[in-house]
Amino acid sequence: MRLAHKFLCLVLATLFVAGLTACGSKSQYKKFSTTYMDAFDTVLEIMGYCKTQKEFDAWAEKAHQRFVELDHLYDIYNNYDGLNNIKTINDNAGKAPVKVAPEIIDLISFSIEWYDKTPPLSNIALGAPLSIWHQYREAGIADPEHAELPPMDKLKAAAQHTDIHKVIVDKAASTVYLEDPEMSLDVGTVAKGYATELIAQELKAEGWTSFIVNAGGNVRVVGKPLDGVRQHWGIGITNPDKPDDMSDDATLDTVFCTDMSVVTSGDYQRYYMVDGKRYCHIIDPNTLMPADRFRAVTIVTEDSGLADYLDTILFVLPYEEGLAFIKTLPGIEALWVFPDGTVKTTDGLKPMMKKLGGATSK
Ligand code: AMP
Ligand code: MG
Repeated sequence: MRLAHKFLCLVLATLFVAGLTACGSKSQYKKFSTTYMDAFDTVLEIMGYCKTQKEFDAWAEKAHQRFVELDHLYDIYNNYDGLNNIKTINDNAGKAPVKVAPEIIDLISFSIEWYDKTPPLSNIALGAPLSIWHQYREAGIADPEHAELPPMDKLKAAAQHTDIHKVIVDKAASTVYLEDPEMSLDVGTVAKGYATELIAQELKAEGWTSFIVNAGGNVRVVGKPLDGVRQHWGIGITNPDKPDDMSDDATLDTVFCTDMSVVTSGDYQRYYMVDGKRYCHIIDPNTLMPADRFRAVTIVTEDSGLADYLDTILFVLPYEEGLAFIKTLPGIEALWVFPDGTVKTTDGLKPMMKKLGGATSK
């Protein structure tokens, strides 16, 4: 597992902001939290209100187990004994349909459905060019002095094999078949958020009413804090210049919300440097180069899977186009951080924000 230390700081600090306790409250609930580091290549933090530690531990472990299961299902790099996952689908491209779990069918169907109704920039069938970038990025991180960019002709050849409509999902048979033998899936744009949403929904359906699931900065809140005082959770938005510092002063702002997701894609999360320039992990399918219009984009909406899917689109689109696009989707707010530090948001987000809009936890 390639665990970035900065994610730990980010996650813990996010929840520090979120978890301010209410002094003098008479609530019978207490706030608990725990972290795990063995799924989705990031830090998973579960935090919430329960009457006892034992009750909290049971919820947290349930969430953890599910994260590990979904991580294995959505993995594109590793095989697991007796399990068909996304890598199995990729290994069988052009050969045969692969029978997979409903969580995979649903994730892929969701991604194709949203691809068909949004600007075609968040594409789970981009695996071929993304794997080339992944290889060069990993090599560049391991040996920075020799870091280099992938050759464009190699990327262009791979881009010939990225047609999402060649991903054939048979819901009745529960199979997925990649028609193009050279193509592969990379579900990184959506998997973490989709898993977070699924797990939050499962915990809620089983009766937990006040919690936060945070998968490496992909934050889903359910209900409100049960401290008897606050009406909203406060979720800090990372300052791309200070990704390890989530103190109130350092963060860009705090979003106060209930039953909501706050999901960020940033160029500080996964990147490498070539000749002094930063190349991040989000690739513009039109140029086949890492997008560099923004330092970070945050989406605020209820569904964490959708937020994760959309943040890649907004990260690639020019601001004016992204703003016009996001305005067509009700209930979805966004925040952009430009390279010079300028922050812009949709109008609907401001009233939820502490510094920009004067919002509070009450
Ligand atoms: P996120 O973590 O949501 O910002 O998604 C970034 C991940 O999605 C990357 O690590 C890649 O695996 C993948 N990815 C990068 N660019 C794209 C793109 N344009 N469309 C779909 N997936 C992408
Ligand atoms: Mg995403």
